[in-house]
Amino acid sequence: MAETCVNGGKATFNKPKVELHVHLDGAIRIETILDVAKRRGIKLPATTVSEMTSRCTVDKPGTLTEFLDKFNQFMHVIAGDREAIKRIAYELVETKAKEGVIYVETRYNPHLMANCNVMPIQWNQKEGDVTPDDVVHLVNEGLKKGENDFKIKARSILCCMRHMPNWSMDVVELCKKYQNDGVVAIDLAGDESLNCGTYPLHRKAYEEAEKSGIHRTVHAGEVGPPSVVREAVEVLKAERIGHGYHTIEDQDLYKQLLEQNMHFEICPISSKLTGGCDPDFTKHPLIRFKEDNANYSLNTDDPAIFNSTLDSEYETATQYMGFTEETFMQMNINAAKSCFLPEKEKTVLLNQLYEAYGMINDTGF
Ligand SMILES: [Zn+2]
Repeated sequence: MAETCVNGGKATFNKPKVELHVHLDGAIRIETILDVAKRRGIKLPATTVSEMTSRCTVDKPGTLTEFLDKFNQFMHVIAGDREAIKRIAYELVETKAKEGVIYVETRYNPHLMANCNVMPIQWNQKEGDVTPDDVVHLVNEGLKKGENDFKIKARSILCCMRHMPNWSMDVVELCKKYQNDGVVAIDLAGDESLNCGTYPLHRKAYEEAEKSGIHRTVHAGEVGPPSVVREAVEVLKAERIGHGYHTIEDQDLYKQLLEQNMHFEICPISSKLTGGCDPDFTKHPLIRFKEDNANYSLNTDDPAIFNSTLDSEYETATQYMGFTEETFMQMNINAAKSCFLPEKEKTVLLNQLYEAYGMINDTGF
């Protein structure tokens, strides 16, 4: 079927998709930020969608500091507000359903949206009564309502932050508390130069996660060297790698991870704008991953900051990396196989894809 038309609003890959790496707080709609600010009486330096978009987005490769500064533009509007937290989770599901995603894993750090029981309180907020636990509960409510209204499946991953080791044990405890209620895994995000040798609390949190049957992914090798990927796999026992582009600079490690069928959560537009990869997409490590039949998925990471959609990622892969409909189908099947759903639900998801792709399933059913 010829469905790879990018014109006329038609999606590049117009079939069901799985997305595994999208930050909830990096996917907030600009309209929602303006709306919530108005309701809460928070003054913003911009009042229109286009002005606010240009304040919140990056359009050329920059530094991590520039990227992180974008969150300062809007996180104080959403954080500490129960209605807003629930709303952004709900709207993420709506957006993903529109993009043709049938299963999404969205991730966030609960402390960044709390204003109580968090040290230090973020975004210059005054102390309030929204705890990290409340945040997880609210996000779950939003996701569930979204699942119900838009008929897709959504789960969450809770992130530890590399620069905030003191939060990590809280994060793993929240993963445990909500293990059977929306939360499927733990993640570690932030500045990769802060390794776990120096910050043993992350390691402790991941040990606890492994002991408790919590799935594990780690942001590694995005901007940082292959040693960060090695640490993620060997010390933190990561089952998936967030990004992992720089893995290929260590051929032994890369070969080992290919043999292990390690899943790489690839985000092309993000990797260009964060300076993680060469801005020339025809030199992107994803091309190597594809040629080597690696296990990877295509994801948006922070679409609000990169002013991107899942379709623009697929379009990029088609235009610059030689992706075809066949490659996208196989890639989404790998994503489903590598998702953090319980086995039974994973089988259901896989069968949905096999059916939509007109493929005979290999799950034995
Ligand atoms: Zn990320």
